[in-house]
Amino acid sequence: MTPRCRELLKRCSAYLEGDLEKACCAEMEQHLKECARCRAMLVEVKWTIEACRHAAPSEVPPEVSAAMRTRLREEREAIKATQPG
Ligand SMILES: [Zn+2]
Repeated sequence: MTPRCRELLKRCSAYLEGDLEKACCAEMEQHLKECARCRAMLVEVKWTIEACRHAAPSEVPPEVSAAMRTRLREEREAIKATQPG
């Protein structure tokens, strides 16, 4: 995992919610083109968020939202483990 990957993972949630500056998105998308690991991770998270968005709240299986939260938490823990502080 490169520093670029860690930076991307940190911004993953905001990126998927469309909260980032356009320049940041372009930068991230460029990295995604070059990095299969981040691409695979983002696709998985994005798919889950999209599924939650388009389904009525009652239609989202609890295990799906739980799996998404677990996934994001694991990624955050992985980032923390590689960075002091
Ligand atoms: Zn990467």
